[in-house]
Order: sequence, then structure tokens, then C-alpha cells
Amino acid sequence: MKKVSVIGAGLAGCEAAWQLARRGIEVDLYEMKPKKYTPAHHYEGFAELICSNSLKAARFDSAAGLLKAEMTRLHSLVIESARQCAIPAGGALAVDRTLFSDYITSHITGHELIHVIHREVTELPPGMVIVAAGPLMSDGLASAIQGLVKEEHLSFFDAAAPIVSADTVNMQIAFAASRYSNGEGDDYINCPMNKAEYEQFYDALIHAEQAPLKEIDQRDFKVYEGCMPVEVMAKRGPDTLRYGPLKPVGLTDPRTGHRPWAVVQLRKENAASTMYNLVGFQTNLKWGEQKRVFSMIPGLEQAEFLRYGVMHRNTFLNSPKLLDCHFRLKEQPNIFFAGQITGVEGYTESAASGIMAGLNAGRILEGKEPVTLPVESMIGALSHYISDETVVNFQPMGANMGVLPPLPERIRDKKLRYQTIAERGMKAFETALEGYGE
Ligand code: FAD
Repeated sequence: MKKVSVIGAGLAGCEAAWQLARRGIEVDLYEMKPKKYTPAHHYEGFAELICSNSLKAARFDSAAGLLKAEMTRLHSLVIESARQCAIPAGGALAVDRTLFSDYITSHITGHELIHVIHREVTELPPGMVIVAAGPLMSDGLASAIQGLVKEEHLSFFDAAAPIVSADTVNMQIAFAASRYSNGEGDDYINCPMNKAEYEQFYDALIHAEQAPLKEIDQRDFKVYEGCMPVEVMAKRGPDTLRYGPLKPVGLTDPRTGHRPWAVVQLRKENAASTMYNLVGFQTNLKWGEQKRVFSMIPGLEQAEFLRYGVMHRNTFLNSPKLLDCHFRLKEQPNIFFAGQITGVEGYTESAASGIMAGLNAGRILEGKEPVTLPVESMIGALSHYISDETVVNFQPMGANMGVLPPLPERIRDKKLRYQTIAERGMKAFETALEGYGE
């Protein structure tokens, strides 16, 4: 029987294994948890969301929405699980991360063609392999990959936001509302600041003590824009946070009847609404400093911090040199890579690349040509981006409208433009898949 080894049961690895098993192909899925954990993984289930619990925008006429629609068409297990385990989050698809992981774990372990092997892989197994061990892959495997691709990895840091216990938030000050529904709804808890409170908080934040980075890490330090530490963003200027994660737009403080000067938003972590994360507050401050500075946020004076923010190393390949648009090594086409390590950026993007690696590994084993998706589709555009040899100074890329080719006609209205781009992408995507008999 045909067989593929998949390394890592994260977002990409689970999708890859699922695609293969759906096609009737046997999978050995290697996962080092629960024997060994990366610095950011804590839960023993698969497809663990290690920072935010949001899979970004749900609506079709957005980059993240188009990506989800394409993944759904390809029978994505991640999107299916997210929809089953969704929690209210305005226009975003946010999930209860424990239920989400459990749903995926039970589907993967329950599939008769997927054999889960709990072991750290330090050498690639023979035959067809998909490496989906993530940006925090174990050192042993990282050295094996480094030897294999004969390229230096690039490394940088990502940061995770703190989580507070809901019942310790002072709701005499904080208020429930969603800015996306004109202040209606209760998806978010909002901690309003007046000008003086903001200035005091800002001053404390930019002067707070950071956790030390090892010398080698300092040398490699680059900030991932999508997860920039709040203190780094703050240092860009006194108003940067007010125009970023602390923007007060669409919110009215019920105590004053006015729009606050700034607002810290708390987003639900779980379906029971007992835990909330501080939106945009990824940080590398020392834990004691996090407690001191974040307790200055109105409403969080007595908040219990269930988890403090952390920063971690993140590794990705110089994919344009190494990979083709099917996520396989140009030099050794039996070896695929999938997930964040390929330079796609984000949970959904990582999962989508896992789908493509699994789908194409399966097709090749079946003697079929691999699927090349059109650049008008979001997965097609990302696959082309990571394998575009003309790209110099390659940096990870998440789904965005800018990665797609422009429309031939000019549409001024943004919503209509995005809707048209999304419809064009989905149509091209469907046509291509039908052409391949998928
Ligand atoms: P992972 O989900 O990390 O899966 C890799 C799996 O491989 C893990 O289960 C791991 O245990 C296993 N593994 C590792 N080494 C081995 C080995 N040698 N043998 C066997 N198993 C192994 N993206 C977002 O969209 N939103 C965010 O908020 C966000 N925050 C992030 C925060 C941090 C700290 C980091 C590092 C990244 C973040 N990302 C975020 C980026 C990215 O979306 C995630 O890293 C995502 O989990 C990547 O999916 P993946 O499948 O590539 O890897």
C-alpha cells in the first residue's frame, strides 16, 4: 500500500495527513508531544493554537475569507473544526482552542489509515515525506534539515499575548461591546482609557524591563509584523497604539457617553468565556513587569494573569531557492515541506499549505500530475510567492489582497473591489480543480 510520512501534527501536518488518508493513502504521522514540547506548545492535542485563538476574518470578501472558502472546497479539517468550535468574535472566526484541538485530534487518531507515532524525529524517514514540524521544530530535526538543504535557516521571534481570568476584570469600569457591530454585542470586553490614563500607561510600557534574549537570539532578532510585541510597537510613537490595537473607533464608554481616548480589547479565549486574551498585547516584558504595567489598564487593576506573554524563536526556509510551487524540494522532489516553515505566515495559511502538500504528494503517488493553482486564488498566490525565484530577501507572507493580481478594471468602492477579487479567485480556483479532476 502507498504510504507517506508526515512529521509534526500541527496545523499543516494534520491537514496533510487528512488529505492523504481521504485519498486512501496510508500515513505515518510523527508527533513529539507529549514526550517533548517546543517552548510555545503546552497542550497534548494536535493542531495547537499557540498564541491568538483567532483564525482571522470570516467574511468571503476578505483575504482571510477567500482563503477559508478555498480550504473548505478542499475539505479542510482545520476549517471544519474551527466552525464546529467557534466562539463569538465579531467578524472573526475565533475558536475555543481546547475544543478545536480535541476535534482535530479525534478525527486524526480515529482514521484507520493514519498511524500516529509519538516520537521526536531527528532524521527524515525514507520514501515520500512531508516535513510539517513548524517554526519551532526541535533542534535535532532542525540540524537534519539544515544539512539537507545546505542553506542557513533564517530565524526571528514571535510573541504571545497574556491571558486574564474573566471574573477578575472589573466590569464597573470595563464594558462588553464589539466595535464591529457599532458598539452592540458582547463579543469583546473593552477597557477604556482617558488621555491621562493612556499617557501614564504608555510611559510605563516604553520604560518597562524586557526579558533578556540570548546573544545569538539578539543577533537574529527580527520582529514578525503580525505579532509585534506591544512594547516594540509603542516605541514607534506615542499614538501608534491608539491607531493600532488600542484604537477606540466604534466604541462608546457607557460611564461617560463618549468615545474613550484609547481602548484595550479583551477577546474570549474559550467557549465558557472564563478567560480573555489582551488583543495585540504580544510581549517580551518580564513577567513581573507585565503584572505591574498591564494592571494599570483600567478594569485590570485586580486582574489575575492566567498566562503571561512570551517570545519565541521562529524558523523558516529560504523557500524561493529551495521549494517549487507544490511545496517540494526542487532537488529532492520526494520531500515536501508544509506550514509556517515554508514562509507562509499564519494559522490558516500554514494549514492551507499542508492541504496542498498532502494533496500533491497523494496525486504523485497515484501517478497524476500535481495541482498548480491559479495566482488569482489565495492558495495559488501564496504557493507562487514562496517559490518565486525573483524574490530577494524572502520574508514570510500571510494571506492579503496585495498578493493577488490587480483587477483589469478599476473599482473605487473597496468592498465591491474585494468582493470582485474574491469571486474571481474562487472561480479560477474551481475551474482549475475541475480540470485536475479534484
Ligand atoms: P505547528 O502548529 O507548530 O506544528 C508543528 C508540530 O510539529 C508541533 O505539534 C510540534 O510538537 C511538532 N514537532 C516539532 N518538531 C518535531 C520533531 N522533531 N518530531 C516530531 N514532531 C515535531 N499565527 C497566527 O495566525 N496567529 C498567531 O497568533 C500566531 N502566533 C504565533 C506565536 C508564536 C510564538 C509562533 C512561533 C508562531 C505564531 N504564529 C501565529 C505563526 C504560525 O501560524 C504558527 O506557528 C502555526 O502553528 C504554524 O503551523 P505549523 O503547522 O507550521 O506548525
